[in-house]
Amino acid sequence: MTEPMITQMARANSQRSTLEAALHGDVFTPDDDGYRGSCAGFNLAAAHRPDVVVAAAGAVDVATAIRYAADADLTVRVQATGHGPGGPVDGGMLVNTRALQRVSVDPERRTAHVAAGVRWTDVIQAAAPHGLAPLNGSSVTVGVVGYTLGGGMGPMARTFGFAADHVRRIEMVTATGDLVR
Ligand SMILES: Cc1cc2nc3c(=O)[nH]c(=O)nc-3n(C[C@H](O)[C@H](O)[C@H](O)COP(=O)(O)OP(=O)(O)OC[C@H]3O[C@@H](n4cnc5c(N)ncnc54)[C@H](O)[C@@H]3O)c2cc1C
Repeated sequence: MTEPMITQMARANSQRSTLEAALHGDVFTPDDDGYRGSCAGFNLAAAHRPDVVVAAAGAVDVATAIRYAADADLTVRVQATGHGPGGPVDGGMLVNTRALQRVSVDPERRTAHVAAGVRWTDVIQAAAPHGLAPLNGSSVTVGVVGYTLGGGMGPMARTFGFAADHVRRIEMVTATGDLVR
């Protein structure tokens, strides 16, 4: 028998409360004022309409959100800047990494440690005082992680290689919600 709409709404509200209580970041659903802003990215052709957006405040938030999505049978997509969205999100959960902005450069090791929402412009600014430069692409507003996951073929690739060739370590959340290196 089909579930009555009022029961569905009560269940959705209860699920949302559970998620909000477990996260440090914000949760948005379609009726919230911040919902459209939390879905928006660079590419306006992709109008995302997820059932829920998690504005992650850290890796633990991402892991919690992924485990929740698995339990609730929600599909998951990730967005940092929206430069390469690959089509609109329709339903499910969108994990937005925009708030994750930590960047540090170790000039001795010539490495940068960047959080999931960082754009290349911030890495350039952190590296330049040390006489270093990252292997970014043609646009400095593209996100470091999305760019690198695609290989990262920038203007300096013929001389120094692709960005993905130089990755030393990745901290990631698996599809089961485990945080691994
Ligand atoms: C103006 C412009 C110039 C460009 N120049 C270059 C270039 O010179 N060289 C080049 O190689 N590419 C270039 N690109 C392509 C760009 O690298 C890709 O579109 C890249 O995927 C954008 O990453 P993003 O994180 O900014 O975008 P997003 O749309 O936020 O993410 C892109 C993809 O990566 C996934 N993703 C992002 N973050 C994560 C994460 N933390 N975990 C898992 N998945 C994640 C998203 O789900 C999505 O599928 C350019 C794009 C633009 C718009």
